[in-house]
Amino acid sequence: MKHPSNEDWLSFLYEECSTEQLKSWDRHRQECPQCAQLVDQWRESQRILSKWELAPTFRRYRPAFRPHVWAIAAVALSLIHI
Ligand SMILES: [Zn+2]
Repeated sequence: MKHPSNEDWLSFLYEECSTEQLKSWDRHRQECPQCAQLVDQWRESQRILSKWELAPTFRRYRPAFRPHVWAIAAVALSLIHI
């Protein structure tokens, strides 16, 4: 029995192939416990990764607006010019 390659299974998982190819690999998966296990593991990984969110420290940096900092800076600048 010739097993589909890992690339084939990725195409299967992301449905990036023709419907006929999808059906063919699905039939193979139903008859081959080795490939069925592999696909199940990748599906589980796919499910976990789809729920993954970036930690707050990795989110896009957005500086907070701090009016008191600007007020202090304005007062300091005005004192320099006096
Ligand atoms: Zn197989």
